[in-house]
Parts: sequence; structure tokens; C-alpha cells
Amino acid sequence: CGIVGILGQHEVAPTLVEALRRLEYRGYDSAGIATLNKGVLDRRRAVGKLINLSDLLVHDPLAGKVGIGHTRWATHGAPNLANTHPHRAGPVAVVHNGIIENYRELRLELAEQGIGHETDTDTETVALLTQLYLGQGLAPVEAARRTIDRLEGAYALLFLFDGEQDLLIAARKGSPLAIGHGVDEMFVGSDAIALAPMTDRVTYLEEGDIAVVTRSGATITDAAGQIIDRPVKTIRIGN
Ligand code: GLU
Repeated sequence: CGIVGILGQHEVAPTLVEALRRLEYRGYDSAGIATLNKGVLDRRRAVGKLINLSDLLVHDPLAGKVGIGHTRWATHGAPNLANTHPHRAGPVAVVHNGIIENYRELRLELAEQGIGHETDTDTETVALLTQLYLGQGLAPVEAARRTIDRLEGAYALLFLFDGEQDLLIAARKGSPLAIGHGVDEMFVGSDAIALAPMTDRVTYLEEGDIAVVTRSGATITDAAGQIIDRPVKTIRIGN
């Protein structure tokens, strides 16, 4: 239901949770974050209110200067811990808003290759497909692209990869996403309100856009796969 991502200069876990807090008004049943801790993917998730996630982080902190976060409003699978985002498959973690309409077909296809699911979500299928393509030797950007090509439905997606300290990949189709521009920092949010404390300079993705985000900026391709310049807008939202 709510998505945030940060490529930062400082520890991102507290800022991710703060950004998720700004999206609470949209409603949710569980929440989680994933970061690269010394380059290695790790995550913390909790069912229920964000306070449960922040309490967990007090006892079990999560280091890292790049990360993604999610508040979930369950559509596929009960609101339990296994189904809470971020979803992880080996070297990739994914957060997702919306619904992957063809996830059953994709699940079957993966099952035929001996790849099983551990959750009831449509989102895990996205992570597993990406892992499959990475395993076939594709680089993260190509693996994410190939995965997104396979998806039907409405989604906003954000990908984080093991060992990739300067990379987030964001995709929008039927569910909004905004890229926030900082100083040697970049942000992603399902709602510009989430980004307001970090930056007031925002680029809204259009339908079918994929953004490859690094700390120096975002390269956006449109639905036809062409690199496209989207405007940076200055927004006014109170902190
Ligand atoms: N369909 C996904 C799920 O059920 C995402 C739901 C959402 O938008 O929060 O986990």
C-alpha cells in the first residue's frame, strides 16, 4: 500500500520508518524494511502497526545506507509475517503495491522449474522471477526489466539487490510512484508526502516507466523502452 526507498549518505532505517509513518493514513496491516548491511541484504518486518516494526528495530537494529520499505494492505494472502513485504528471493528484495493479475500462471511456470513459493503473495512471484533471471546471468537492471515484462496487472514495484550499494529499480504501472532528488541522495515514494521531509524536488513516473536510480540521479525509460526526460517539480508539502 505504501512504498519508500532511499539511497542515502546516512543510516536509512529510521528515515524509512518515518517515511512509512507519513503513509499510515492510507491504511495497512503490516510493515517492513530491507537494507544492504555492509552490502548484504537483510530485512525486518512486523505485523500490525508501525510501532511494532520500530520496537523490533530497537531490539534488532538494521544498518545500511540504502533500503526499501513497505506498508502492506493485503490483497493476496493473510496479513501474517511470512506475507509481509519486503519479499526476498536470494539476492533480490521487492516491495509492491497493487496486484499481479497473472501471478498464478507465473507460479506454475516457476513450479515447473522446481522453484517453490514460501508465501501466499503475488509479490513473492516477482522476487522469484527476478532471482531466476539473475541466475541466468542477467545483470540486475536487465533481470528486473525482463521480470517486469512478464507482469500483468497494476503495480508499483521497487527492487533492491544484494551487493548493489548504489542501485534501486522502480517501476510504475497502475499505481503511483515518485522519485525524490536530494544532494547525493535519491528517494522513491508511492506518494510525494512520504518524501516531503527529505526533499521537495520530485519526478512523477508515468504509466509503464522504469527508473534506474543511483545516488547521482535517475534514468527513466518509458513504456516503449526509450530513455525519457521527466520533469523535476518543486512540491510544497508541510513537514
Ligand atoms: N498484492 C500485494 C500483497 O497482497 C501488495 C498489497 C499492497 O498493495 O499493499 O501483498
